[in-house]
Amino acid sequence: MKFSTKAIHTGQEPDERTGAVSVPIFQTSTYAHQGIGKNKGYDYSRAENPTRSALEKNFAALESATHAFVFASGLSAIDAVLRTLNAGDHVVAAADMYGGTYRLFNTILTRFKIEFSFVDMMSSDSIAKAVKPNTKMIYTETPSNPMMMLTDLRAVAAIGKKHNVLTVVDNTFATPYLQNPIALGFDACVHSTTKYLGGHSDLIGGAVMTSNAELAEKVKFIQYAVGAVPSPFECWLLLRSSRTLAVRMRQHCENAKELAEYLASHNKVKKVYYPGLASHPQHELAKAQMRDFGAMVSFDVGSLERAQKISESVHVITFGESLGGVESLLCHPATMTHGSVPKETREKLGITDGLLRLSVGIEDTEDLIEDLNRALGA
Ligand SMILES: *Cc1c(COP(=O)(O)O)cnc(C)c1O
Repeated sequence: MKFSTKAIHTGQEPDERTGAVSVPIFQTSTYAHQGIGKNKGYDYSRAENPTRSALEKNFAALESATHAFVFASGLSAIDAVLRTLNAGDHVVAAADMYGGTYRLFNTILTRFKIEFSFVDMMSSDSIAKAVKPNTKMIYTETPSNPMMMLTDLRAVAAIGKKHNVLTVVDNTFATPYLQNPIALGFDACVHSTTKYLGGHSDLIGGAVMTSNAELAEKVKFIQYAVGAVPSPFECWLLLRSSRTLAVRMRQHCENAKELAEYLASHNKVKKVYYPGLASHPQHELAKAQMRDFGAMVSFDVGSLERAQKISESVHVITFGESLGGVESLLCHPATMTHGSVPKETREKLGITDGLLRLSVGIEDTEDLIEDLNRALGA
């Protein structure tokens, strides 16, 4: 089965009892047992819930993985994968990634004696060099947030295999529609389903997909033992969203390409970061591991003052955090998503005070360009 068909049908078969084509929301915490040791596969909703099971089946299919586990947020999904490690283990992690992930690694997990080296994931060499005897995981994000740098997934998967180290990637920006890291050799991918998988800016959620049976068993146990699970209603929203993922992503990508080209040609924009532009240093790699280039476009307008003006002048585009919704969202990484990253580290990565990040929605591009044109001229 191809992608859209799986997204619409896997885990979303008509309800056996009633024929309902939309998976019912099983808003229940517990289940009647038929006797000691006898139940219908469900005993308590932290462990399993039928709406959640349907979603996990659907999500596994999207990444062609054997297992998927959903969580109450993207960060709780990431946390669950990292908690499969033990004190004393070392992780090679991307220097440029979602600020909240950096905060989780650097302020919480380090307290439990998990050790991190943050390296430039654009360089497979520096990744290989950072692997130590106690390295147990390579963790990356591609395209990265907000600099749109790419990790060579095939090369990093090979490094992981060679050193017997787990490879995990945050696939939130690309979505399973554009990029399938597990098919390229990665052990697992994580998603903030708050973004494109939800797609409507109306929920918080996360997911882990893997075809590594040993890792799957550990993540499932953590999901159950820690309990950061989404509600049945959130699972249902995601099942609904999955059905339109392919068409939304096609439109997101088409719009983003047009906007990236428009921004690149604007004389008040210093630099545009978008893997779909031929000027992107990793454009060829993007073509080799992604089916299209996604809809996140970062651009530098030169100063905090200019960024401030633009943030106050957009009308169609919403200025705010988050991404991946049908509506276009603009944010200022230095003060918003990456506020918790030290300024020195930010500047080194290119997250200047003049950098803006645009999550291109699926509105009509004429309206988006008109909005940006006015804001850039302000
Ligand atoms: C938003 C985001 C997260 C965190 O997800 P939450 O759902 O907000 O917990 C992690 N990674 C990336 C790339 C994100 O954009």
